[in-house]
Amino acid sequence: MIAEIIAVGTEITLGSIVNTNAVYLSKRLSEMGFEVCYHTSVDDDKDRLSKVFASSLERSDIIIITGGLGPTDDDLTKETVAKVLGLEMVSDSSMEEQIKNIFTYSNRQMSSNNLKQAAKPFGTDFIPNSKGTAPGIFIKVSNKRIVLLPGPPREMIPMFEDHVRDMIKGDLYITIRSVNTIGVGESTLEDILRRMDLSLPGFSVNTYASLGTVEIKIVGKGINKDVLERDSSILIERIKRKLGDSIYGFDNISIENAVLEMLEKNNLVLATAESVTGGEIARRITRIPGASKFFKLGIVAYSEAAKIEELNVSKEILEKFGVVSPETAKEMARGLLLRGDVDIAVSTTGYAGPSSGENKPVGLVYICVMDKSREEVLERIFTGERTAIQERAASLALAQLYKFLNNSLT
Ligand code: ATP
Ligand code: MG
Repeated sequence: MIAEIIAVGTEITLGSIVNTNAVYLSKRLSEMGFEVCYHTSVDDDKDRLSKVFASSLERSDIIIITGGLGPTDDDLTKETVAKVLGLEMVSDSSMEEQIKNIFTYSNRQMSSNNLKQAAKPFGTDFIPNSKGTAPGIFIKVSNKRIVLLPGPPREMIPMFEDHVRDMIKGDLYITIRSVNTIGVGESTLEDILRRMDLSLPGFSVNTYASLGTVEIKIVGKGINKDVLERDSSILIERIKRKLGDSIYGFDNISIENAVLEMLEKNNLVLATAESVTGGEIARRITRIPGASKFFKLGIVAYSEAAKIEELNVSKEILEKFGVVSPETAKEMARGLLLRGDVDIAVSTTGYAGPSSGENKPVGLVYICVMDKSREEVLERIFTGERTAIQERAASLALAQLYKFLNNSLT
């Protein structure tokens, strides 16, 4: 089902305010399984709004319009929508009462304009506004659902959460599951998925890449909840069989969470020695509550001197192989293990750019994961700008850690 969000307001088209309503609603609608295909912004102008709304009726099944529901003369959304749909505006006596009561209760003077808010297009429903006076409007015409919401986010968001969600859901059940992967690029992953049999009625499978991980999102829509749940499990099983090793978790767990769960399950203590990632690995791990039990220390050993002083990396190794080398990465990890009370160490060294050294390319990164019996070094050349390289290197280090733990423990 195609959804469209129309933001009404000259403030938006002039650039005086940011259309955060569209961002919020898009996220929520997508999570619910709707395809948000259009964002439109239009100024407070009847004719232009009419045209925009008429076009949306031709192309979208769910249309959410925010703004222009208030009492002032430039608030014209309801009237314009009613006119395009050929519905008469009628005043609702119980809403009139409610609005009068709000003003009496808060001891404010009511203007005749406020009663505008008691009017609605014939045959439509009000949506209660718990944070303000302007109610929303819900319109069902043929198989389309049209929702008018107030512009201020503090009114719009609770109205959406408390009422609109259920109204637009209809009789459709939606299941959203995801498989979280690392180590395979998004385009390769898409290729693999395309060649698999993942076409079950009502299901779509899409990939979303972020910071070196890729989420495979499986969204199913249908009228039978049990069938949907069964089918989404079938799809997940198929993906699991195919991707095995590249999967680190399900339903949007972060890679650092997956690592921490693994450390916890096996009662292991981790330490990090970071150069190119500048503390990003430690930051991501320590953001998780309870990390202190399984994360002992993180050292950012950025200069050569720090690598020698803090991690006991030998000068000869640095001179012979270079700062950015598998040997240095290993020495850094070993240095951590030798500090004691650490079961597993991870280190990073590399060139995040824009310049590099030792005649080695920008983006070259070495990651070492080591415990008392095993060590693994990974080489990767990342492209992109500095912070992207750092973030992706941190993700890869976490992924490598996850794999290392998985291999040594199972
Ligand atoms: P009111 O009763 O407050 O007039 P309204 O439904 O008529 O509400 P508008 O007059 O269009 O809404 O906008 C009121 C305020 O709401 C704006 O000044 C702005 O702060 C906020 N707002 C409106 N539209 C958006 C939007 N798309 N994104 C974020 N904020 C918005
Ligand atoms: Mg207004």
